Amino acid sequence: MRAADGISYKGAVRRDGRMKAVRFHQHGGPEVLQYEDAPDPVIKSPDETLIRVKACALNHLDIWGRIGPPYSKPPLPHISGCDIAGVVEEAPPHEKGLRKGMEVIVSPGVGCGRCERCLSGSDNQCRHYSVIGNESDGGYAELVAVPSRNVLPKPERMDFVQAASVPLVFLTAYHMLVTKAKVKPGETVMVLGAGSGVGVAAIQIAKAYNASVIATAGTDSKLAKAVELGADHTVNHKTTKVSDEARKYTDGKGVDVVIEHPGKATWEESLRSVAKGGRIVTCGATTGYDAVTDLRYVFAREITIFGSYMGGSGELLRVLELFKQRKLRPVVDFTLPLSMAGDAQVRMEKSEHFGKIVLTI
Ligand SMILES: [Zn+2]
Repeated sequence: MRAADGISYKGAVRRDGRMKAVRFHQHGGPEVLQYEDAPDPVIKSPDETLIRVKACALNHLDIWGRIGPPYSKPPLPHISGCDIAGVVEEAPPHEKGLRKGMEVIVSPGVGCGRCERCLSGSDNQCRHYSVIGNESDGGYAELVAVPSRNVLPKPERMDFVQAASVPLVFLTAYHMLVTKAKVKPGETVMVLGAGSGVGVAAIQIAKAYNASVIATAGTDSKLAKAVELGADHTVNHKTTKVSDEARKYTDGKGVDVVIEHPGKATWEESLRSVAKGGRIVTCGATTGYDAVTDLRYVFAREITIFGSYMGGSGELLRVLELFKQRKLRPVVDFTLPLSMAGDAQVRMEKSEHFGKIVLTI
């Protein structure tokens, strides 16, 4: 068989069939997403595995990719989707751990696998790092080709929908709290946007590390669900000044760690909420990236600001171990069929969901 570049690989797959996929041929709003026939993916190297997708969770990366520059510039037409669960359709013969029909999830980050960063476990800092479904085609499709080393067994006790909801946000939240902030028992962690994917993951991970959690959200029903997940205290950011409540809860001291991802809309209040010597970890800017930083807070309070992007692939394995120990659980708000990906993204942008939105294929 011949792969796309014309080079023969033993065991490589070439499919001339058509699959159903959601693609966009131009950047824009959700209306550019088209549910249509697309060519089956082509295995480009002997190190790739073909996955039959059963479920794919939505992430904001999907929306950045759809909108396009300046956020992202995927090749067109493009298939989004980085949180994938499914079954192995075809694995290279030399991949002894993978066999057809095996139920799997896909680790979303791809480094070069050879540089100092990759080899020391920080593949998310590899200069060639990419996220499946961001630069390359992803899981809004019946089939996807991914690097074999990214294919992991689906955790027991999880169905495909639950499994797809886990990788990106739990990896991100673990990297923020454990690897970057080094959260300690007894510390107070403020999790912004409790209903977001990162929010539901961060609340649970902070509790697993015996921290006290303040969760913020814009509706009381989301706050009630945050308490069910373990939040000790909640703040409705639409009716209450977050920094006032954070200081009140900590006897005026401020919180030790803020888990930031909204960006522009919350950044100033995050700075005001942190204790002296505290840490803010930011992994995103869903409300805008041009936030204003009052540097007086940073130097006078000796605040540390960590940037955080995804996490090392080894960290995802540690996350999955925490699921095995039942310290974490997946949180899925609702599912929609693949053909309704546009509606799913519209609902995600409205921020009315609590937890993950998952497409079923
Ligand atoms: Zn690398």
